[in-house]
Amino acid sequence: MFERKDLVALEKFNTGENYVLSLFLNVSPQERKRGGYLSKFKNLVKSLPEEKISLVKEDIDKIERFLQGERESFKKFLVLYSCIKKDLWVRYDLNMEELKEEIIIDKTPYTSPLFDLLDNYQKYGLLLVDKRNARVFLVFLGDIEEYAVVISDDVPGKHKKGGWFALAEKRYERHIEYHVKMHLKEVIDKFDDFLKEKEIRRIIIAGPDEAISELMLILPQEIKQKIIGRTYIEKHASKEEVLQKVNPIIDSYEKMKESMTLSELITRSRKNNNAVLGIDDVLKYLRDKRVLKLVVPRDYAIEGKVCSSCGFATKQDVDCCKECGGCVMKVQNLIEKATELAIQNSALIEFIKDEKEKKQLIEEGGIGAFLRY
Ligand SMILES: [Zn+2]
Repeated sequence: MFERKDLVALEKFNTGENYVLSLFLNVSPQERKRGGYLSKFKNLVKSLPEEKISLVKEDIDKIERFLQGERESFKKFLVLYSCIKKDLWVRYDLNMEELKEEIIIDKTPYTSPLFDLLDNYQKYGLLLVDKRNARVFLVFLGDIEEYAVVISDDVPGKHKKGGWFALAEKRYERHIEYHVKMHLKEVIDKFDDFLKEKEIRRIIIAGPDEAISELMLILPQEIKQKIIGRTYIEKHASKEEVLQKVNPIIDSYEKMKESMTLSELITRSRKNNNAVLGIDDVLKYLRDKRVLKLVVPRDYAIEGKVCSSCGFATKQDVDCCKECGGCVMKVQNLIEKATELAIQNSALIEFIKDEKEKKQLIEEGGIGAFLRY
């Protein structure tokens, strides 16, 4: 897992006069079975001009050996930054495949696709809490990481109290309650720091009912409103078990959010209220840098024509450019062009994954956008 500060550090990495090889490669289990990822890497290298290859020859050899030797440790997508001459070797293993495969050779690491993931995918914080312990997790791009464990040793146990007077028992219980409350307060403080540091806006809470009800009583409103779901998870559960429990909650939340986005897009575009539908309009507003957020059905393509001199693009079957009269080229997928433009303009991109919603968006023009003004 990577964070914004890691990427900022990468961008500032001083390569002197040297070149960095940035690799984005799909290494999912299907790709690994056929060894396909390795030949794809070789093809990506082959597609580069000779003079570029010679700048990073050592890096290419090292990566090739690495791809052969480390395959067992791969997840779904691999991002590598290598500059042997400056001792740079950074590896990110992603549990998702929605990235373009490419090799970039430049004086700086090519980080914009990763910045993009940070902007467009939601991070989820998980608090697993009971009256004595708490564990904190971060879920991002299908991956989970554990960040902190809070154990409050001074919460007294409910040991046998044979022989105690009822009054003493009562006092003892109050004593426990006090310590539980202190424990929960400490948990909230640490969790709050964690949410701020990691820029997390969505939370899942897990634990026994009693602990959760007490937590809710003292949880600040600011944190409460970030909660998207609740579940029960055994306190010693492994990371994988925890992920299995939270994934359905995240899925249904994202589905709901997708469907809200789509209906807002349709309503607003009908009212001409800073939203548009249809590839030609979307491309026009992208060229004007007015798009705030692009809404795109996942794995969908729209064929069209692109002008080779001014960049004008349309799904209409035109013979020459409608803007400048220049030559037009046929392209397989205008949506890809739209997402590239969106990234260049720092616009957000939301992918619609649910089949029913995808179909609806396709019927409404296949792509849409919320506009800045
Ligand atoms: Zn043109």
